[in-house]
Order: sequence, then structure tokens, then C-alpha cells
Amino acid sequence: MRIVLFGPPGAGKGTQAGLLSEKYGAAHISTGDILREAVANGTEVGLLAKSYMEKGELVPDEVVIAIARAKLESIGEQGFLLDGFPRTIAQAQSLDAALKDIAKPLEAVVNLKVDNDELVRRLSGRRVCPACGEPYHVDSKKSAIEGKCDKCGGDLVHRADDQPEAIMNRLNVYDKQTSPLLGYYEQSGILKNIQAAGDIKEVFRTIVAALGQ
Ligand code: AMP
Repeated sequence: MRIVLFGPPGAGKGTQAGLLSEKYGAAHISTGDILREAVANGTEVGLLAKSYMEKGELVPDEVVIAIARAKLESIGEQGFLLDGFPRTIAQAQSLDAALKDIAKPLEAVVNLKVDNDELVRRLSGRRVCPACGEPYHVDSKKSAIEGKCDKCGGDLVHRADDQPEAIMNRLNVYDKQTSPLLGYYEQSGILKNIQAAGDIKEVFRTIVAALGQ
């Protein structure tokens, strides 16, 4: 399985990638998670990425491409689900070149479609566990104990880039810089469009059916 989970912020890429990775045993690779870890650890990459991320801007291509390549190399033969990468044409071309080198092209790009009002609702109410990455929502996916992660007991946070101004910026960045990739993947014939506004499990079943697995 070599798949890209595509869509605007808040479309559910991380949630669906988590479910797919459990079902198929493929590695869930989120460049956002890798960057957040780098920020938390204060590494050189983290220091560089922090200000872009807080504003909802894209981290420069060369930084993200190096991270994604290193991660893909580290998983060896295992299948993968890319979540949040690629986000620009340059990133997509670099990914294609890397996969071509090992004769393992992408099998599908799953485009999760959700309208903007619902994205804003999801992002503004989102809380995440910084320790294990599990996502929650203040209305639709509450943790059993308020503010605590059900999986690992970590303290849930409201990400800086889930604040209103950064949300609007992220949606604009998606429209301008990331959505043109849909045309790129449509041409290669591997794009699968999925209506992703509904229930998490229902969306998951639709994806599995579209992948024909
Ligand atoms: P995410 O958790 O995927 O929404 O990513 C959070 C933030 O990390 C984004 O708003 C960007 O600042 C940065 N980021 C993650 N993936 C990429 C990428 N492929 N290209 C550029 N920036 C990225």
C-alpha cells in the first residue's frame, strides 16, 4: 500500500490514515507530526519550522522534502500512508522521483472533500494529545475525562494553528498552494475523490471500497 491522504486541513487525513494504517499495517507518515516533534525537541529543523507553523504557512519545500525522504527510507519495504505530504507541486515531483528510483510508484491519492464551514467547525473545536497525537473535538469527539487523552492520559492542547486567524490562513494556503495538486494527480489517473463530511467510520468504509482492498 503506497497512498497519499489528501485534502484541506480538518478534512480528517490524520484520523483516516490512523484507521487505514491499523487495518493494513502500513506506516502512517505525517509531516505535520514530525515537524511538531522537531519543534517540541528544539532541533534545528524545529526552530526553523516553528514560526511558519504557528501562522499556518507552509514550511519551505527543501526542509519538508528532506524530512519525508528520510522517513520513507527508514521504513524500507513497508507500505505507507502519507498524511499532509505532498502539499506543493515541487513536493509531489520530488516524491514521484524518489518512488521512481525504487520502482514503487504511488497507488492512489485519496482526496477527502469537506466544505469550508465544516472545516472551520472541526479545526476550531479540535484538541490533540501532544504525547500520542490522538485527535479529539470539543463537541463531536470528547475525551472521557475532560482535557485528558483516553489513550495515554496526556494533557490535551488547542494547537496554536487551530486558532481562528491561523485557520483562515491555512485554508487560504490550501486553496492557493496545495489544491493545484489535484490536477496533477488527476492526470496520472490515481485520484480517488471521497465525500468526507460524514461519520468517521462511514468515510473509512468508503475509502476502503474506493481502494478496492
Ligand atoms: P498538519 O498537521 O498536516 O496540518 O501540518 C501542520 C503544519 O505543519 C502546516 O500548517 C505546515 O506549517 C507544516 N507542514 C506539514 N506538512 C507540510 C508540508 N508537506 N509542506 C509544508 N509545510 C508542512
